[in-house]
Amino acid sequence: MQPVRKLVIVGGGTAGWMVAAAAARFLTDGQRTITLVESDAIGTVGVGEATIPPIRSFNQMLGIDEGEFVRATGATMKLGIEFVGWGVAGDRYLHPFGDLGYDFEGVAFHQFWLKHRGQPDIGALDDYWLSAAAIRAGRFAPPAPDPRSPLSTLAYAYHFDATLYARFLRERAEAGGVTRVEGRIGEVDTDDYGNVGMLTLEDGRTVEGDFFIDCSGFRSLLLGKALGVGYRDWSRWLPCDRAMAVPSRVADPLPPMTRATALGAGWQWRIPLQHRTGNGLVYSSAHMGDEDAERTLLSGLEEPAEGEPRKLSFTAGVRERQWEKNVVALGLAAGFVEPLESTSIHLIQTAINKLFWLFPAREISQVERDEFNMLMTDAYEYVRDFIILHYKATTRTDTDFWRDARAMDVPDSLARKIALFREKGRVRRFDHDLFAVPSWVAVMLGQHIEPEGYDPLADSMEDDRVLEAMRRMRTGYAKAAQQFPRHEEYLARLTGGV
Ligand code: FAD
Repeated sequence: MQPVRKLVIVGGGTAGWMVAAAAARFLTDGQRTITLVESDAIGTVGVGEATIPPIRSFNQMLGIDEGEFVRATGATMKLGIEFVGWGVAGDRYLHPFGDLGYDFEGVAFHQFWLKHRGQPDIGALDDYWLSAAAIRAGRFAPPAPDPRSPLSTLAYAYHFDATLYARFLRERAEAGGVTRVEGRIGEVDTDDYGNVGMLTLEDGRTVEGDFFIDCSGFRSLLLGKALGVGYRDWSRWLPCDRAMAVPSRVADPLPPMTRATALGAGWQWRIPLQHRTGNGLVYSSAHMGDEDAERTLLSGLEEPAEGEPRKLSFTAGVRERQWEKNVVALGLAAGFVEPLESTSIHLIQTAINKLFWLFPAREISQVERDEFNMLMTDAYEYVRDFIILHYKATTRTDTDFWRDARAMDVPDSLARKIALFREKGRVRRFDHDLFAVPSWVAVMLGQHIEPEGYDPLADSMEDDRVLEAMRRMRTGYAKAAQQFPRHEEYLARLTGGV
């Protein structure tokens, strides 16, 4: 079996350099060349600042030192997201990372909270998340490995400058043997079997390959354009199709969380970095004009703007297949759900893991291709459902945008999840699910999907024992978070500033 000898990556955004850095580490065999082509004139999408906890395992897999990474990318720590105005205009809830309390005898913790929540002193659901207590205190600590420590319940991700992250990974990739070619691809040649064989740059240079990874962003130059793989449009559920982004001055204090504020025809993000704050309005062009969007974005800033707003257009959806012939697409070339819940960079990571697991020989097996496509379709649809939930589960009626969101039919897979939760607060649990049970519970309860009952197994535990354990958790978490260093202090220590 002939191995892939010439691996070509098209695009040098976050996706291109993530896969290049991973390929430099895991796919070099002394004989394989790895080439990345990118165009400085086209540039990158230049947004994408918030992540979810699995990004840490990607960095660890590449042997990246956390302090070096945080310094190089202006990163801050993210313990969760605060949602403002989603369920009802003006209200707020947290989607914290990490465990929600402790499960008792296999019954999910929130079932006990549902059972006892009418009682005095039971507190809010948030009181049972150590990450939530840390967010409220503006403090941060990493998880501890000892399962007896409350710190073992923590999980965290980063906010970072995606452009700096790509640059940071580029250094590692080039040091690991990846060759960078700068230039704009004008033509993509396919052979008699429909495989891509050669790229011709506008200045006439050519790049040959036997396997191609398309990271060309929304253009989807190889998979979409050259191979004609169609796009599944999800805008009937996710109507936001524009974003306007603007940086503002550094936040003080630096919250260890992203904020997502629902507005009349979309929502606005606020992402604190060490050197600036990232802000952006995501909106539906059918419900809001660009001028209105710009005014809304700027008037929602908490810090003074630094620079002009930049507009981006997109259509939520995914390619019908992510792997066709000898081309795999990653990142925006493969699909884009929505920036809400920060899953895009994670989907790049997921695709890299699956691709390397199924990395082909030159003669590509259809079984491997089908497996990859099935796994990635599942991953995108899972994220899609979680994001749609935020729009569907609203009681807002103040604008057409929210009235439409509330009334829309959702995919059956999500409708079943909501129905299951409404009955007894149950969330289906699979080990490979990206968002664990607490994430679904945070959003469903945060946006007022009220279960009619609770899991009857919660009755099999003695109430006194449960209530005492809940009291200890609540007070223990609040106390533990107060002992953590302030977020700024932690960052300074990590990056050698203290
Ligand atoms: P790009 O950054 O667009 O890179 C494409 C590359 O292809 C560039 O190098 C370009 O030069 C090259 N290229 C294209 N055409 C050619 C050509 N003809 N010749 C040569 N080179 C070419 N993700 C998150 O995880 N968290 C977030 O908070 C988040 N927020 C987002 C907010 C918005 C509004 C948007 C639109 C996206 C957001 N994302 C977020 C997604 C995230 O930005 C992307 O997933 C990530 O940056 C990867 O982009 P990419 O590398 O696929 O594409």
